[in-house]
Amino acid sequence: MKKWPLVAAAAVPAVHLIRRLGSPALPPPAALPPSVPIPEATPPADMDLVAVPTGVNNRVAAYAYSGGSLFDRRDFYIGAALIKHPQGDLLVDSGFGRDIAKQFATMPRLFQKLTKYEVWKPAVEQLEAAGYDFGRLSGILLTHAHWDHMSGITDFPDLPVLISARDHAAFYNPEMFGNFRGYFQDTPFNWQEFGFEGGPYLGFPRHHDVYGDGSIVCVPAPGHTPGSVIVFVTLPNQVRYALVGDLVWQREGLTRRLERPFLIRRLGDFDAEGNRQNILRMAAVMQRIPDLIVVPAHDQRAFAEMSQLPNVTTRGLTLTPNL
Ligand SMILES: [Zn+2]
Repeated sequence: MKKWPLVAAAAVPAVHLIRRLGSPALPPPAALPPSVPIPEATPPADMDLVAVPTGVNNRVAAYAYSGGSLFDRRDFYIGAALIKHPQGDLLVDSGFGRDIAKQFATMPRLFQKLTKYEVWKPAVEQLEAAGYDFGRLSGILLTHAHWDHMSGITDFPDLPVLISARDHAAFYNPEMFGNFRGYFQDTPFNWQEFGFEGGPYLGFPRHHDVYGDGSIVCVPAPGHTPGSVIVFVTLPNQVRYALVGDLVWQREGLTRRLERPFLIRRLGDFDAEGNRQNILRMAAVMQRIPDLIVVPAHDQRAFAEMSQLPNVTTRGLTLTPNL
């Protein structure tokens, strides 16, 4: 009796199933309508965007996005991006600070067990080593209020911490995962909430234009946390960046529309469905502006595409666009 036809018949759906499991990409987004304009920006001539690495979090691609390999090691960039602007420089996020060890000890035990990090140099010290004039710095703009983005804010006492109203409220919510509430609850900060007073922007419903010249624009991108934001930066040479925070952890999350793995979404995202909608919104923006440099907060390939600090400490690793 010939069994092969039966085996072949069973193999077809099996191969389909494996393909489905192995290709968990989100469907392509609807294109942005032609009526949506590419926003104008008039950045000042001496504006710049500079990587300020503070260390890494040792992960693998399988942790970062669905279908990623367990053997593809990814050292997650933990740090900041310094926007130089004559109206006042801004650090987008702060990376690891001097107190990271004490802060980390207040995180849930399981999280501590699963997380291995390496501090290179806190942002304040990287900037000192580069001879930075701290008088230029006017604030720290948080993409969201999670531990690895806000650890360093204690190294800049009194400096305004710009935070979306929703993430500011969430910071004090005991059910929120991933912040240092326990460590920070008695620390006074110079919180400065911002809202989104502007209208639609590249398919996002509202925006906040920080200096009114279109060079630094925040849009709401709730999902990973309730008040997560994306920061669009346009430089004088008209090169555009989108600092997407933790919307995705590595570029594949957007270029291949691969969400975080199911379990990680369940544990780490406040609203995974909201995050998915914002991945699709960003994917549509990337189709519309193919030269846009997308910067997930933990992808060192993206930070390699910014200006670099002199005398930067990276413990022998260099930021490379070809990771
Ligand atoms: Zn993060």
